[in-house]
Amino acid sequence: MKDYLIIGQGIAGTLLSWHLLQAGKDILVIDEIRPHTASRVAAGIINPVSGRRFEIAWEYDRIFPFAQQTYRAMEATLHTEIFVERDIWTVFPSPQMQQAFDAKTHNSAYILAAGQHRYAEFLHQEHSAAIIKGANVQLQNLLPAYRAYLLQRQCLYENVFDFAQLQLKEDHVVYQDIPARCVIFCEGPGIARNPYFSFIPFLPNKGEALQIKVPGFHTTDIIKKSIMLVPQAPEHFWVGSTFEWDYPHLEPTAAKRAVLEQGVQQLLKVPYEVVGQLAAVRPSTTDRRPVAGLHPQHPQLGVFNGMGTKGCSLAPLTAWQLMQCLENQVEMPAEIQIKRFFNRLKA
Ligand SMILES: Cc1cc2nc3c(=O)[nH]c(=O)nc-3n(C[C@H](O)[C@H](O)[C@H](O)COP(=O)(O)OP(=O)(O)OC[C@H]3O[C@@H](n4cnc5c(N)ncnc54)[C@H](O)[C@@H]3O)c2cc1C
Repeated sequence: MKDYLIIGQGIAGTLLSWHLLQAGKDILVIDEIRPHTASRVAAGIINPVSGRRFEIAWEYDRIFPFAQQTYRAMEATLHTEIFVERDIWTVFPSPQMQQAFDAKTHNSAYILAAGQHRYAEFLHQEHSAAIIKGANVQLQNLLPAYRAYLLQRQCLYENVFDFAQLQLKEDHVVYQDIPARCVIFCEGPGIARNPYFSFIPFLPNKGEALQIKVPGFHTTDIIKKSIMLVPQAPEHFWVGSTFEWDYPHLEPTAAKRAVLEQGVQQLLKVPYEVVGQLAAVRPSTTDRRPVAGLHPQHPQLGVFNGMGTKGCSLAPLTAWQLMQCLENQVEMPAEIQIKRFFNRLKA
């Protein structure tokens, strides 16, 4: 009997299955091959400074070092570059924004310097800029390399998970003819089709991004103004992203391309060329925290989801906390426990 079936190999399923394999568990990941999932479209930015109010991100002092250590271990096993520490060159659109930033981040360990001028030749930066210590997860390396690693160990079944083929037994499950102690669903926005966890309040939102070429512009920094510019290859950048809660379809749109291009033009002094456009749905919960744990009536079924805008920073630590809970009965932090939504089952 398998210990765990993990449904989905986005960043959530990748990190959970990684920790379980490291702990010696017998697992099988079931994932359908879909190119435009959040984890395949995201830039993988890890930014300590969150939102327009410049707060230091939730639990960042624990989350960042844990993510760094986990991705470094994955790099050593998968032999590919995954975790790249990058300065985030943050350009303020107004002096007021800079004052707000200075007030909030004064003495922060994550602010390396303020008031300098990098890239004057390339960027509109009339107001000052600051350097924030961030990172970038190379999802385009991590996801396929980890998939190959799973395949090599016969731990991956490339298929759509079909709920009609899942049988719940008293203390385990059988999927098709595969018995397992537990199934953990890491389906991202695909959870909308999951009949067991419909009580979790999700607020999925669509995000779009561009891929651009900026001739002559070479940097290893992430650059932030109203949009983020993330280096992907020499002269090539990911530009994102938009937020949309009410969307008629999942395809990239001309309207969001225009929004992103406006951000590019407010930032870049030099010509650029759009070479691609991407769109995907972020799996966010209404309280913007991950959700992890077992079903109250069917403890053979679990969930790990709700990564929202921050899958790359949140998944390593929260997946490990879920594993500790599953294997060693260690209580997870209240903010991520599925229990916080149990009262919705009574409603
Ligand atoms: C435009 C954009 C930019 C972003 N930028 C960043 C960023 O810079 N930094 C950051 O940290 N986060 C970013 N995010 C958010 C990040 O992408 C998400 O937090 C994260 O990818 C969610 O991962 P997940 O594994 O939960 O879901 P997903 O990535 O959606 O993965 C779910 C997986 O489950 C599979 N699946 C679903 N249902 C089934 C089924 N029935 N059977 C089999 N397989 C199934 C899917 O095919 C998929 O592989 C961004 C998101 C978007 C859209």
